[in-house]
Amino acid sequence: MAKKQFKAESKRLLDLMINSIYTHKEIFLRELISNSSDAIDKRYYNSLKDGSTGISRDDYTIQLIPDKDQRTLKIIDNGIGMTREELEKNLGTIARSGSLDFKSAMEQAEAQNEKGGETIDIIGQFGVGFYSAFMVSDKISVLSRSEGSEEAWLWESKGADGYTVSEGEKEDVGTEITLHIKEDSEDENYSRFLEEYTLRDLVKKYSDYIRYPIQMTSEDGPDTLNSMVPLWKKQKSTIKEEEYNSFYKEKFYDFTDPVKVIHTNVEGLISYTALLFIPGKAPMDYYSKDYQKGLQLYSSGVMIMEKCPDLLPDCFSFVKGLVDSQDLSLNISREMLQHDRQLKAIAQRLEKKIKSELLEFLNKDREGYTGFFKNFGLQIKYGVYENFGMNKDLLQDLLIYNTSYKPENGDGEGDAQNLMTTLSEYVSRMKEDQKYIYYACGETAEKIDKMPQTEVLKDKGYEILYMTDDIDEFAVQMLRSYEDKEFKSVSADDLEIEETEEEKKAAEKQEEDSRELLDYMKECLSDKVADVKLSHRLKSHPVCLTSKGGLSLEMEKVLNSMPVDEKVKAERVLEINASHPIADTLVKLYGEDREKVKTIAELLYDQALLIEGITIEDPVAFSNAICDLIVK
Ligand code: ADP
Repeated sequence: MAKKQFKAESKRLLDLMINSIYTHKEIFLRELISNSSDAIDKRYYNSLKDGSTGISRDDYTIQLIPDKDQRTLKIIDNGIGMTREELEKNLGTIARSGSLDFKSAMEQAEAQNEKGGETIDIIGQFGVGFYSAFMVSDKISVLSRSEGSEEAWLWESKGADGYTVSEGEKEDVGTEITLHIKEDSEDENYSRFLEEYTLRDLVKKYSDYIRYPIQMTSEDGPDTLNSMVPLWKKQKSTIKEEEYNSFYKEKFYDFTDPVKVIHTNVEGLISYTALLFIPGKAPMDYYSKDYQKGLQLYSSGVMIMEKCPDLLPDCFSFVKGLVDSQDLSLNISREMLQHDRQLKAIAQRLEKKIKSELLEFLNKDREGYTGFFKNFGLQIKYGVYENFGMNKDLLQDLLIYNTSYKPENGDGEGDAQNLMTTLSEYVSRMKEDQKYIYYACGETAEKIDKMPQTEVLKDKGYEILYMTDDIDEFAVQMLRSYEDKEFKSVSADDLEIEETEEEKKAAEKQEEDSRELLDYMKECLSDKVADVKLSHRLKSHPVCLTSKGGLSLEMEKVLNSMPVDEKVKAERVLEINASHPIADTLVKLYGEDREKVKTIAELLYDQALLIEGITIEDPVAFSNAICDLIVK
């Protein structure tokens, strides 16, 4: 029997194929199963077309038979089969796809018919998938009998050398592929492809939605490995919440039900179905470098990519799920897309969709959304901050904050800790004379609620947003404003609260009178503060610290907690309550005992630090100084 050469530089091509197209050897199984599925589709299609009985639709199967002793893996289908010529043509010519021909013929027939009959969704198109089996086999035999033929033919090849075709024997129509699995090498364990559980896993992973049963016979009889109907292809209205939940937990290895399911079907220039989930809990590694975002990508029910990062923007990296589209132009290994333009188009629409779903969640179920925000709110805030605020328009309406606002007729449940407000709600409640959106930063809402700086604003009936995350103030700086209202920290140097002319004059006079004292105090505190001021923002509290310029005390804390050498320092302003008895005491002492004013200045500064939750430089000196004052 003469050996035939592969056509068209096939040797080199085959070599290239085997060694460089695929990144995962395991993909061979997906390719062969897809071929079998195509072959069955073709037989089924023909039977519909010419009314031939063929076999009943229920009898179509794809069988996997691993044999450890022989080191073989058989993949058997009862699809359309191949004649001798077809074996030569399809398997003897690399990059020749019988399936693509079939598809074109089918589409032509459909076009002529105009009946819009059943078309089928053929997977193959490149004519290379079959050869991927050489990645794991040192020899492949294909025994095939074509529908309507009595003969069977055996195609055999050991790879680049070429192939032989000889007469074979086969009872039924279809194709039986035998892979002679390679011996294990130092860096590759090929034997795993003979293990039932590996095969099971691979079918689940790549071929779960092949329409025909993929079976493997174990001790307990034949077992169907694939679930065949993709959940996302079912009519939405027929899917129960339970089904979504268990699908999510099984596919994405979670124990907790998702808080939100987004199932969307888009028809258009590029059509796709997306089934997305928002997890009920943040994964353990979510806020670490190890976490990888991405959605699964399917093309016609076959998995192409397990984690396609380009489908999700970073700010929504917590979303899990999948996208299935028939319109993707895949590259030859079907591990990637040819054009990321298609991905981008899908990603853009998904981004909008996720946002609108989250907004709806926020508006319809505040409690549920608050739970979601506890898990993933940080990510959204980072999203606002990142890329110089590029995504702030997308994200700003998804932000919620603790607030000083207490609803009237509150039933006691709306305490500061639980009530979360959106920026738009805040703005709708702003007082007529209120210029800014005020916010305060601190460790907890309770602590912020007690901050001296908040008193005067509360007095005026202005609402204050309570911000407790490190990222908050940085994100606010990116936002700058919301609905044309600028943000202002309660610790800002100047709160710009409306004052009457009289109030202004009185304040100026008082400032004037105490100028010398304030300058002296500033001198005493030397480089610790940028300024010492009399304050009108403090109602009952004696002192507080505020800051000048763009860097706040909170930001200073956050930045200095990072592992960098260079430390930053906010420009601190020590504010002394102008209407507190301490102000009068200081004025009096300034005329009598300068040394004591110095001590008190230092004490007040340390007190202000403590209120801010900043550690003081010399706690011992502080404590001794207080003791001295008590004793004297
Ligand atoms: P593709 O599937 O992309 O067309 P392959 O190299 O995997 O490329 O297969 C080449 C051709 O061989 C297919 O198009 C098909 O015509 C034929 N073929 C492969 N496997 C089978 C099979 N199990 N049954 C019938 N025909 C097959």
